[in-house]
Amino acid sequence: MATTPGLRTRLVQEGIVRSPHGETSEALYLTSGFVYASAAEAAARFAGEAEGYTYSRLGNPTLRMFERRMAALEGAEVAIATASGMAAVHAVLMAQLAAGDHVVASRLLFGSSHYILHEILPRFGIAVTTVDGTDLGAWERALARPTRLVLLESPGNPTLELVDIAAVAGLAHAAGARLVVDNVLATPLLQRPLALGADLVVYSATKHIDGQGRCLGGVILGEHRLIEKTLVPYLKHTGPALSPFNAWVLLKGLETLALRIDAQTATAARIAAFLEGHPRVARVLYPGLESHPQHALARRQMRGGGTVLAFRTGGGRARAFSVLDRLRLIAISNNLGDAKSLATHPASTTHSRIPEAERAAMGIAEDLIRVSVGLEEAEDLIADLDRALVP
Ligand SMILES: *Cc1c(COP(=O)(O)O)cnc(C)c1O
Repeated sequence: MATTPGLRTRLVQEGIVRSPHGETSEALYLTSGFVYASAAEAAARFAGEAEGYTYSRLGNPTLRMFERRMAALEGAEVAIATASGMAAVHAVLMAQLAAGDHVVASRLLFGSSHYILHEILPRFGIAVTTVDGTDLGAWERALARPTRLVLLESPGNPTLELVDIAAVAGLAHAAGARLVVDNVLATPLLQRPLALGADLVVYSATKHIDGQGRCLGGVILGEHRLIEKTLVPYLKHTGPALSPFNAWVLLKGLETLALRIDAQTATAARIAAFLEGHPRVARVLYPGLESHPQHALARRQMRGGGTVLAFRTGGGRARAFSVLDRLRLIAISNNLGDAKSLATHPASTTHSRIPEAERAAMGIAEDLIRVSVGLEEAEDLIADLDRALVP
């Protein structure tokens, strides 16, 4: 009897195509090009009349395995891999937009996404409106103007603010716009934007999908027609292709993704509860906590609070720096989703280029520390934070 394999089975098995050698692990096709048995075969492949690869910027068997596994995980028709998360965000925007178009985005975005929207798109005559992502009225007002594309991040980095994805999808579609969701912080395991109405989902595979701090990568997922017609030609000709080596690393990352996300989410929830009860912590931001202003929405659209939390130390930047500098186990690093726990001060690193007033409006306070919770023992991480929080 044929049944659909479960999530953990798909994470290990989906998409594998074995060579005639019958290797156990996915083969790494570390090659830029491919050879043909005859000139006629080369011509047929280029004409799309014969199956087969031609050049790794256009396709590669190791990449194909990664893309098929990602699509199965997300429940998307197709996935297309890119060299980094930013290559994915950039391609999604540039492939779909033209001069005169209007984009609406949530205000709280990854620093480089913010740069593309505010520094690059306007140079090509594309208008951008950013809104408080938590305010559905603000989305509605911005979408009263004809709009091509909506981009949002939920949970948002670094303040873990949420956007009601289903509600914004409804507003975007009513306005004739497509919705793109950057789902990095939630991961495909904790949130399904396509099921909530998004048209495209993007990931930085650098984060949880690798999950072990080894390489950069990105993915775009969605309907076959949209991706084949709009994204694939743009990516093929502009060339932000993922290295086959990185695709192989990411395939190995996917094998353990469910185990890591479950363990890291459970530890993050324990740390959030510990920090919330700590007398020298002013505020904890974690979607899994009842004190999160959008906890009800988190329960509705997420399967767990995630692996990232943020907290305010009070006492401004100096106090936040002194807490960070006292950490011994948790390293100071701006990456996230890693097996190793990492802490960062967003206002002076990932979001430092955003003007101060705008940063404050986004809730990125000077005393805010973001923690990406890893796979270490929860007790050890809690002890490290407790020690760092001395007066
Ligand atoms: C890291 C990140 C990106 C960019 O991904 P890279 O792989 O670093 O290019 C985009 N969005 C979010 C939310 C991220 O955390």
